[in-house]
Amino acid sequence: MPTVPTKLEAYAVSIFTEMSALALEHGAINLSQGYPDFQGPAFIVEAAVEALRSGLNQYAPSHGIPALRQAVASKVGRFYGLRPDPEDEVTVFSGATEAIFSTVQGLCQPGDQVLAFEPYYDSYAASAIMAGASFQAVPLTRDFSLDMEALERRSTRRTRLLILNTPMNPTGKVFSEAELSALARFCVERDITVVSDEVYEHLVYGDSVHVPIAMLPGMWERTVTISSTAKTFSLTGWKIGYAVAHRDLSIAIRMAHQYVTFCTPPALQQAMALAIERSDDYYPVLRAEYQERRDLLMTLLHAAGLRVIPPDGTYFMMADFRELGFHDDREFCRFITTELGVAAIPPSAFYQSPGAGRHLARFAFCKDLSTLEKAGERLSRLRSRAPAGPFRMGTFQPSSS
Ligand code: PMP
Ligand code: GLN
Repeated sequence: MPTVPTKLEAYAVSIFTEMSALALEHGAINLSQGYPDFQGPAFIVEAAVEALRSGLNQYAPSHGIPALRQAVASKVGRFYGLRPDPEDEVTVFSGATEAIFSTVQGLCQPGDQVLAFEPYYDSYAASAIMAGASFQAVPLTRDFSLDMEALERRSTRRTRLLILNTPMNPTGKVFSEAELSALARFCVERDITVVSDEVYEHLVYGDSVHVPIAMLPGMWERTVTISSTAKTFSLTGWKIGYAVAHRDLSIAIRMAHQYVTFCTPPALQQAMALAIERSDDYYPVLRAEYQERRDLLMTLLHAAGLRVIPPDGTYFMMADFRELGFHDDREFCRFITTELGVAAIPPSAFYQSPGAGRHLARFAFCKDLSTLEKAGERLSRLRSRAPAGPFRMGTFQPSSS
């Protein structure tokens, strides 16, 4: 806990830091913080080594090296039909986290309101608070569908930004085109800018399709589309992210970026430019591999007595543990980490509504199949170790709350 005054007191230690430290302390398989336990493609690492050796070691242009901005512009053109000007409408950041932070700083005035759907990725609220804005979570329905009434009730005259995350961490939801159209109409009517966090754009399963909201009528001018190379190329430590946005929005977010990190390591940018240029055939392979990991972990969690909410996207899944007699997500996640050797994230950290999310745990499946098998084996002891609770096995009824 902080010993000096800080406006971030409520956000003191991120749940990722807390759970990864606990996993390390107990030698647990870490299915909490989302990072792969396998390496990204070797040619990208080789390209970075070459770029470092060639002397790309001084500051890069603040908005990113031309090769990466060009690679991003042509990729979003090929995949989504967006046509940003690589000079003025594509900006490189030190990860999507910095892109979100700088976007919120650049676009919000103190007193503005920032909305995001609940459960939300934790940096959204912290970024709003650091900008002097207020943060308001908007609940989805019980099955994670869009609830327009909830959105209307929570937005005010001061709503400046709506942060959208599709595919969505931690739920695995992929917003449908109908939901995105309703959101687009709402934002156009109320002159709200959308910050669309699409870092899991290539991780969608089954029939789900990822649609950037910037493609919808009236949205190009009012959307900052953010992505990251971290998830797609399994190189989370590199922190190369980017934003694509109309030039007026780009000017404002670049202003903040200059004073946050100023620029991002140029050799890593160079390697990522090559990665993006060469990867159109890699994305379907990545997706197929992740679908196999997803299906395996769903089977293993189910066998351990958990009710999994099947994810349509991302590399996370939420599972309900009440049938095993646990009642609190923090208690459950600490128990499986310290007693069974498998760490997961308690998702109540991603909710503003009191008590929400307390019956769920988030498991990451960005791991080798053998790691997931081993985690499943450990979790198979859950039934015999579960506390005696009001839910005896086989008698579970979902609560109406
Ligand atoms: N947005 C979401 C929804 C995430 O899950 C993450 C985390 N990995 C990020 C943003 C941050 O991405 P980066 O590692 O590129 O900062
Ligand atoms: N995005 C990662 C997750 O959701 C965590 C990134 C971080 O540690 N900030 O697990």
